[in-house]
Amino acid sequence: MIQAMIPGYPRLGARRELKKALEQFWSGRITETELLEQASALRKQRWQLQRQAGLTHIPSNDFSLYDHVLDTIALVGAVPRRYQWNGGLVDLHTYFAMARGMEKDQANAVPAMEMTKWFDTNYHYIVPEFEPGQAFHLASRKPVEEFLEAKALGIQTCPVLLGPLSFLLLGKTTQSGMNQLALLNALLPVYEETLQALAQAGAEWVQIDEPCLVLDLDEATRAAYQSAYTRLAAQRAAQAPSLRILLATYFGDLGENLPLALQLPIDALHLDLVRAPEQLEQALEQAPSSLSLSLGLVDGRNIWLTDFERVLTVASQAVQALGTERVLLGASCSLLHVPIDVMQETHLDEEMRSWLAFARQKVEEISLLTRALNEGRETIEAALQANRQALESRRSSARIHKVEVAQSVQAITEQMAQRSRPYHMRKERQQAGLKLPLLPTTTLGSYPQTADVRAARAAYKSHKLDQNSYEAFLKQGIEEVIRFQEEAGLDMLVHGEVERGDMVEYFGEYLTGMLLTQHGWVQSYGSRAVRPPIIYGDVARPGQITVEWSRFAQSLTARPVRGMLTGPVTIMQWSFVRDDQPRSETCKQIALAIREEVLDLEAAGIRAIQIDEPALREGFPLRHADWQEYLSWAIFCFRLAANGVRDETQIHTHLCYSKFDDIVPEIASMDADVVLIEASRSQFDLLEALRAYRYPNGIGLGIYDVHSPHVPTTQDFDEKLRLVLQILPSEQLWVNPDCGLKTRKWEEVKPALKHMVSATQQVRSSLPLQTGTL
Ligand code: GLN
Ligand code: ZN
Repeated sequence: MIQAMIPGYPRLGARRELKKALEQFWSGRITETELLEQASALRKQRWQLQRQAGLTHIPSNDFSLYDHVLDTIALVGAVPRRYQWNGGLVDLHTYFAMARGMEKDQANAVPAMEMTKWFDTNYHYIVPEFEPGQAFHLASRKPVEEFLEAKALGIQTCPVLLGPLSFLLLGKTTQSGMNQLALLNALLPVYEETLQALAQAGAEWVQIDEPCLVLDLDEATRAAYQSAYTRLAAQRAAQAPSLRILLATYFGDLGENLPLALQLPIDALHLDLVRAPEQLEQALEQAPSSLSLSLGLVDGRNIWLTDFERVLTVASQAVQALGTERVLLGASCSLLHVPIDVMQETHLDEEMRSWLAFARQKVEEISLLTRALNEGRETIEAALQANRQALESRRSSARIHKVEVAQSVQAITEQMAQRSRPYHMRKERQQAGLKLPLLPTTTLGSYPQTADVRAARAAYKSHKLDQNSYEAFLKQGIEEVIRFQEEAGLDMLVHGEVERGDMVEYFGEYLTGMLLTQHGWVQSYGSRAVRPPIIYGDVARPGQITVEWSRFAQSLTARPVRGMLTGPVTIMQWSFVRDDQPRSETCKQIALAIREEVLDLEAAGIRAIQIDEPALREGFPLRHADWQEYLSWAIFCFRLAANGVRDETQIHTHLCYSKFDDIVPEIASMDADVVLIEASRSQFDLLEALRAYRYPNGIGLGIYDVHSPHVPTTQDFDEKLRLVLQILPSEQLWVNPDCGLKTRKWEEVKPALKHMVSATQQVRSSLPLQTGTL
């Protein structure tokens, strides 16, 4: 019998129950016992739903109160010293201290552990930290407890563990030059103990996730995979002979690591056949007879209805080669990355809903498809027909294909992405109108979004506040932001983004071909979730989006106010993207829509326009070999959006949330007049890279870390600025915070920006007058 599986299921609950429980617990409104009871109820719901739908291979320990990498840190007892853990089992207090930091007393806050993006997803995991001589020991019973919890409900599950190699490779060392792989021998006994405990508890299968197998690996790492799994197999043979291991890979092609993975001593290998369908053929040819293959054929990263015929064709091919006992069928990766239930989207019409499958629908799809393979196609005939119809309606729908959009994309030329003059000539013309001082000061776009802003927006959306009152409220907000910036002495102003909640959702609301969901939440980290828009069809701009707000803001002041847009790569990256055309095509369509907005802003008299691309970096493919292709279209799309303007119009872009020192030439090729870049976290590396490359255009290195409540003094800013000026010439440099101020409080922002301005004035007056300075 072919088994129906998923590598994992979303954790927060269809109504974000876990988020609410966590927040109540953190604020002391419910007890630890209540939190744990609610979490247990959620797990029960998930298991029962999966079993009722017909999954035969149901995961456990894929649930987490915060993050599965943090769970693994707890499992192996790798708690960094600063959390003052006293050994034994990791308690909830220590667990959340690592996730969120802890306050010992006012003066001594211990910060949270670092968080970073999980591969190329928008999910963030807690980065394990390893010190020299790092010791490990079993410090959590979570995998066993959750297995037993399901068992008590009469449900046999397959516990999921993050594999030892991926765990080490995803971590960081506290001392440079230290090699994580050297810790493998110390780590493996904890895995051995866990596997043995799971076998004793009655587990038949364990899923070990090794997503790092889809990355570029060096020889030493590949050898470590071999030796780790050989060792685990020997131990299993001795102590848990009936326990079988499903090694799960996802998010890409195993490539040159495929032969290695195929001959590891494991019982089944899971392949992502949505991202990398081409690897199946080789896997079928080379799989040893003891190995089963788990076919990840239902997309765990996107929300589209599965093409049943395609899956059945591919799966039948595998069954023919391996037989029914050696095949599992499932989602390409954990369903963590999709929302839970499309049936909650009551505002969608039947047709639109029929095109979509969220986690719950995907579980049903997998069960149906497995049934078709086990019991014959005729047993799901009605479902097959409905599937064909929905796919056909999506393929041919007039809601998806717009002739005008296709024509505009056809008409794109290289020249459209090109400014007419080089930077140094544009700079002169821009300066003639802008008349900025040396070291111009500015901010990134948003100002604090207070509770009353959020309340007004919610009231407007639920029709409790009429359009006129809402607009009046927003205009007042814009005016306050403008007046504050004038008073603080900033040189280039912004309108404050008071009209936007989320920078992608806001544009998604206006652009055709995109839709927003009501409950389509996807976990971002811990209790936080985002609601990515769905790009379902050709994207176009039916009318102006931001122009009126920018025009209004500019009318209030003589200083230049910058227009504020989200870039095409970021809009695409933070949305669910259609799967019926390449990402690059979708991105071009969005770029054309943003380009129209840019030109309308320019026509409305806006002299500087910022196009944010914070997600440019996270769109990078996982394999180096694929970078160039991505960069060439992604940067082209940015330039297409930006570069239709006259020389006099100054284009800014903003990049943040990642490491940039290795892509300075690519950033330069965006040819923005000014790049405002986050640098507070990896400042030194970026400075070095900028020095080495001699970045040509205007640049603002964020010198105010907006992710911290700390208010820097004038002295702090002065020192930072002088440090940066040792590397970058003053005529190139802008002075700004490292990101938007949306999540900060006015009490912090006001003094901080005033200090930033006064430090700049100090530094300006001490600078020798430079030739070439405008
Ligand atoms: N303009 C946006 C803001 O200031 C940029 C946010 C971001 O980079 N994520 O809020
Ligand atoms: Zn930012």
